[in-house]
Amino acid sequence: MTGQGVAKALVFVLPSRLCQTMILQALDESPSECCGLLAGKRHDGGWVAEDVFPLVNELKSATRFRSEPRSLLSALRLIEHRGMDVVGIYHSHPKTDAIPSRTDLAWRWADGVADLIISLSGEKPVVRAWSLGDLDFEELQLKTA
Ligand SMILES: [Zn+2]
Repeated sequence: MTGQGVAKALVFVLPSRLCQTMILQALDESPSECCGLLAGKRHDGGWVAEDVFPLVNELKSATRFRSEPRSLLSALRLIEHRGMDVVGIYHSHPKTDAIPSRTDLAWRWADGVADLIISLSGEKPVVRAWSLGDLDFEELQLKTA
């Protein structure tokens, strides 16, 4: 999990205003998990997020999320309309670390889409980015600028 000995970590670039939007949404919807999409561009070394699309967690659960279909569809349409790709999906962990859970692995979105997790369990919100496989996960290098 340290990434040592593995080829260089992929980079996920997240502009700080998008990061702030995600954190505010997570705080706002706590103690439920929040969720949303990040749209932008994919390139060889990783991803660059350019816009954030908060979604509605229809489960209103503290440990799980599922995006309400209508909010998901309209976000996907807007992303396509703007000529962007879905580069990341994010959700919050109100009471646990920003590390993927078994549920997250089972319900991962798609290959090539990064998973970002906002943890509210510590003093300050923490955001980490992951690439999820069926059984394991690898941390991405998150660059907020
Ligand atoms: Zn999770």
